[in-house]
Amino acid sequence: MLEIDKFSKIIAANWKMNGSIKFIDNFLSQLDLINNHNEFVCTIICPPFIYLQYISKKLDNLYLGGQDCSLFQEESCTGDISALMLNDIGCQFCIVGHSERRTKFSETDDQVAIKVSNSLKSNIHPIVCVGETLAQKKNNQTKEVLSKQIMKSIPKNSNNNNTIIAYEPIWAIGTGLTPSIDEIKDIHNFIKNEIHDYKNFKILYGGSVKSTNSKEILNIDSVDGVLVGGASLDIKEFNKILSS
Ligand code: PEP
Repeated sequence: MLEIDKFSKIIAANWKMNGSIKFIDNFLSQLDLINNHNEFVCTIICPPFIYLQYISKKLDNLYLGGQDCSLFQEESCTGDISALMLNDIGCQFCIVGHSERRTKFSETDDQVAIKVSNSLKSNIHPIVCVGETLAQKKNNQTKEVLSKQIMKSIPKNSNNNNTIIAYEPIWAIGTGLTPSIDEIKDIHNFIKNEIHDYKNFKILYGGSVKSTNSKEILNIDSVDGVLVGGASLDIKEFNKILSS
């Protein structure tokens, strides 16, 4: 399994349900590889499943991730993609428990924990997403919500070298809103120091990251990288984020 401890910065692109062969060809031809020659920066592209293999054949100095994986490993499960299959085509990572899956597909923390375990069994590093709604934030429930999500979604066999946590406030995803730098700092420190033994876990921030705020966010000590949605679909923006 890839050693993730060695990375000083992780930049993950979540393309969601976007992309096409033409888009990928254009994206990869313009991707600024200079930054990717830095062995301590880990750049991950998470396209829709259907494009994973196409990209895996073209990737150089980049890592590849799924956006989800099945609850099942080798059973009949029409329409699903297992973590084993992700490993088979060269993925090293998988986003698990993204808020869109938790909300639109009613995914529970227990299911997320199974997907994390399946990923680990398949030598895939899960990127486990957690985050509060706006109502929970307004009610001062953020830390309570995050503690519950993290404790329940992250199984015992997870450790700082095999599992990544992504703090993605739901109200910040795709809205152009972000927490303040102090709030991000506070939440990342809380996750690292106050929930359990997550001190050495890599924690990414996600939610409306763009080139105009990425540098400031990545400069926070307790932020080990970013998970980028919308801005990762614009190659010029993404190149700027990579160089920040
Ligand atoms: C996401 O969906 O994981 C995300 C971070 O989206 P955006 O950057 O568009 O807010």
